[in-house]
Amino acid sequence: MTKTIFEKIIEREIPADIIYEDEKHIAFLNIAPFEKGHTLVITKHPYKTIFEIPEDEYLQLQKVVHRIAKHIKDVLNCDMNMVQNNGEVSGQEVPHIHFHLIPRLQQKNIYTSGMDDLYVSDEEKKEFGDRLRMDA
Ligand code: AMP
Repeated sequence: MTKTIFEKIIEREIPADIIYEDEKHIAFLNIAPFEKGHTLVITKHPYKTIFEIPEDEYLQLQKVVHRIAKHIKDVLNCDMNMVQNNGEVSGQEVPHIHFHLIPRLQQKNIYTSGMDDLYVSDEEKKEFGDRLRMDA
């Protein structure tokens, strides 16, 4: 079966600004963020959507999402949109379960699409990754 882009990140086949990792989960900065610090939290197991993941593993994922969301809020002093798309028709592009944590640092339409040039440079994105990194 073809690997998702997220499996390639887990296996370090492609680079990402990873801010959190434990045995079952990983979180990294979105490559096309809606806002600086836009983070994706995923399970390492490639469940596609909420409909495949067992309940106990979904609750573990939610626990990790909760921790990371609070951590990002503490570091960036922001509000936050949290989004989970499930399935193609719902707008899910990567078929690997994930939560979007989108810091709201300024008044902006939440439906603005991702902007590759939101960070002024790769260094700035890396800096955000460094600021947001946390222990498991
Ligand atoms: P969704 O539309 O909910 O499936 O969101 C998938 C997200 O993954 C999009 O916001 C993409 O910008 C993001 N994405 C795709 N490839 C990468 C990558 N290599 N590193 C980080 N984020 C990515």
